[in-house]
Amino acid sequence: MKEGQFRSWTDWRNEFSGNLAIFCSDERFANATLEFLRRHLDIERCDLFVVAGGPAFLTQNESSLIERLELLLRAHKIKTVALISHELCGYYSHRYSDLDSDDLRRKQLEDLSKAAALLRQMGVNAYAFFAYVENGEIVFEEVENQ
Ligand SMILES: [Zn+2]
Repeated sequence: MKEGQFRSWTDWRNEFSGNLAIFCSDERFANATLEFLRRHLDIERCDLFVVAGGPAFLTQNESSLIERLELLLRAHKIKTVALISHELCGYYSHRYSDLDSDDLRRKQLEDLSKAAALLRQMGVNAYAFFAYVENGEIVFEEVENQ
């Protein structure tokens, strides 16, 4: 092996699963989220759309991100999208600094439902989840569709 070179143990597979996960970049939740996708949703492989605030960009109408998402949905023939938001999200507490933690969570859950509805309008199956910490463990709960 050449110096400065690294060879991955991951097998190369030149195909797309049609799955996509959209979640926040927060490292305190990111690994658990990947585990949740694999172990709970049986999503072994998926495209990742990881950005601060996760699915919030959809309800914030951030057009450059939405444009890229639409490109991805088409190019990789995405059929199923998992949306995950999380407790203690710095994006939300920064953006909505006037809200207390209960209202912040309500806002996040509302955004999740709206984002899922938007994605369904784009023709994909969307499932929304909220992650939080309970007794030192990270728990994922499905958000009911509204
Ligand atoms: Zn976050």
